[in-house]
Amino acid sequence: MADLIQRTAELLVNARQVVALTGAGISVESGIPPFRGKGGLWEKFDPMEVAHIDAFLNDPETVWNLLIKDMKTVLDTARPNAGHIGLVDLERLGVLQTVITQNVDGLHQLAGSSDVIEFHGNFAWLRCLDCSQRIKSTEVDLTRIPPHCQCGGIFRPDCVFFGEMIPHEALVRSQQLSAACDVMLVIGTSATVQPAASMPLIAKDNGADIIEINPEPTPLTARISDLPLMSAAARLMPRLVAAVRQRLPAG
Ligand code: NAD
Ligand code: ZN
Repeated sequence: MADLIQRTAELLVNARQVVALTGAGISVESGIPPFRGKGGLWEKFDPMEVAHIDAFLNDPETVWNLLIKDMKTVLDTARPNAGHIGLVDLERLGVLQTVITQNVDGLHQLAGSSDVIEFHGNFAWLRCLDCSQRIKSTEVDLTRIPPHCQCGGIFRPDCVFFGEMIPHEALVRSQQLSAACDVMLVIGTSATVQPAASMPLIAKDNGADIIEINPEPTPLTARISDLPLMSAAARLMPRLVAAVRQRLPAG
């Protein structure tokens, strides 16, 4: 592992443009369960079914109770971990430009990353199904499920459910950055949810090196990962940042 970290650091400091793609795994050590992998919600129910827009529209109360309510309680108190902070360090060292995240937890921004593309929106905001009013979820009474807007409509989280389109700007910018970067750091994603999972493929097709940080193999690992670092993000990132620092001129 030590050798792999050194090679990864070398690649990062010599890169022209580095982009990170993160998934639920980077927030596991902040206490937020992922969908897949050990301890994932997948073991309890199928998120593809429950987190599908049709399921929500058919029965908002059940989806709020099963998925959103618990998730919100966890998200409201979660703090960034060493994985998120490591990405901020890489940005401040001038090595990393942008984080594309599939997460809806806002932890990259809370940690201090300045350019974050939220591919799947953010749980901190709700949107009314009827009048489209957007409101911070902290300003809504969540003791009554599903929560209601003043117009009588039902609030939904302002995030992307399965079966919905990715916000246009987030998708286009992510595709452009994936095509333009020469190194992509893929952290804590099972690389199974489309179209996010195709970003590393776009990067690879355009000549980028793929660094993968994940304790478990993914469909990318054998196929396109140049440097698979099989470890938890919060454990690995501080070591990687230290190795990058060593290679940069002091000050
Ligand atoms: P996923 O749940 O499908 O996969 C999680 C991946 O993280 C797995 O490959 C697992 O091996 C890996 N992992 C587990 N612990 C890790 C650790 N400590 N360090 C690094 N990697 C670790 O996640 P996904 O690919 O992001 O897809 C799930 C979708 O569900 C996302 O699109 C996202 O919108 C949503 N989601 C978000 C959150 C969140 O905001 N934190 C949490 C759950 C699900
Ligand atoms: Zn409304």
